[in-house]
Amino acid sequence: MRQQIGNGNGFGVGILDLKALERLLRTNGVKCSLSYILPLRPEMDFHLDSLLNLPNVTVFTFSQQEGFILLKLELLNAGINCPHCQTYTDTIHQNRPILVRDLSICGQGVYLQVPRRQFYCLHCKKSPTERLPFLEMRRSYTRRYEEYIYERVKELTVERVSQNEQLSAEQVARIFQRVARAKKKTGEILNV
Ligand SMILES: [Zn+2]
Repeated sequence: MRQQIGNGNGFGVGILDLKALERLLRTNGVKCSLSYILPLRPEMDFHLDSLLNLPNVTVFTFSQQEGFILLKLELLNAGINCPHCQTYTDTIHQNRPILVRDLSICGQGVYLQVPRRQFYCLHCKKSPTERLPFLEMRRSYTRRYEEYIYERVKELTVERVSQNEQLSAEQVARIFQRVARAKKKTGEILNV
């Protein structure tokens, strides 16, 4: 169950709409409290989840600051199959969320706060870190964002992409080289 709506830095998804709705209802003589109309939220979250289009995640909060959008995500699976012994575990050893860059929405850069969960396997006593299909280990960008940067550099230049995306030229160049290397490995033909 979600408890948090927004945070001090931005606005929670729906909270402005809910307050506006509450005011409107009051002017029409209908008394209601915010908690009463809270059940409207899941539907809006559903649309945000669809928009995000990443598997197995839900948007927990949404905030906007200085031209950037921050989406805090939650994962829908309670546990994983241990990659060492294949035993299912939902015992969380620790969770250290990370911030990763994702594709922009309406011209605004997007950061995702993604849970980085380490489980504990009672069977083999190891503590595997959860692997996420949209994010490689130890990366600060989603796979699709890296792919996007790679394609943009092919069309433009590292400098132009750096300016457009508010990334340093070094960051752009590193992403490009990384994706190019990965494509070479998988045998994809490069057009560069
Ligand atoms: Zn195990």
